[in-house]
Amino acid sequence: MSEPEVNVQKMTRREVREAMGEGKFKVAIIPTGAIEQHLEHLAMEHDIRSSTWVAQQAALKLYPQAIVAVPMSIGISEHHMIHKGTLSAKPGSWMTILFDAIECMARHGCNQILVLNGHGGHEQPVYGILRQWQLYFQNVMPDVNLQFNSYWNLSRAEAEEVCETGVPGHATEYETSMALHLFPENVRTDAIEDPEARLATAEKGQKFCEAAVAKTVEYIEGMLSGRFAEIKAHVMSKDLDPRVWDH
Ligand SMILES: [Zn+2]
Repeated sequence: MSEPEVNVQKMTRREVREAMGEGKFKVAIIPTGAIEQHLEHLAMEHDIRSSTWVAQQAALKLYPQAIVAVPMSIGISEHHMIHKGTLSAKPGSWMTILFDAIECMARHGCNQILVLNGHGGHEQPVYGILRQWQLYFQNVMPDVNLQFNSYWNLSRAEAEEVCETGVPGHATEYETSMALHLFPENVRTDAIEDPEARLATAEKGQKFCEAAVAKTVEYIEGMLSGRFAEIKAHVMSKDLDPRVWDH
């Protein structure tokens, strides 16, 4: 039996409409990544390819609860522009498009939205603004629970049991292992120069991938069960006095 479709861009408007009308796809997963240098041996698509794969696998396991929306291929990668081929968006432009994508899925009726990140350069800018975004939804669409996580952080404990070097690193043991398992055509094994990347194996990659999917599913199940609702309450009560809105 073939797998059900979980990618919004592969569906027709009728298919999306009817599925959502039946109560499917209450969860939207938005993969983010980058097109940037990954040392001499790994293809530049790694970050978006890996986060999209984890998102798709998680959505399949959660089917029909979750849909994967708009992989955002270009990321914030100014720090890699010295290497030809890197495509980088300015932080403000990138976050504007990301928020618009989030809001589109919310307006379509996805109450749980997880931005599943595959590029370390997004963590600082997004965590800097995430609370404002969460408060926006709390005020405007209070049923919407927005979360952001990098897949390696969701599965860090499991990954660190296997990985001898830092998780996720950059094109080193962790990412190269995942690529060897998922899309080995992206790894030029004869061009690996980095000593940490030389520790990569497809077997380790399989463990990293399985943990990333399992922990992403677990996290989304937590969102669905309301386990993360207290984050919004915490944000509101501790960090932003509601009276701020009066001014
Ligand atoms: Zn990477």
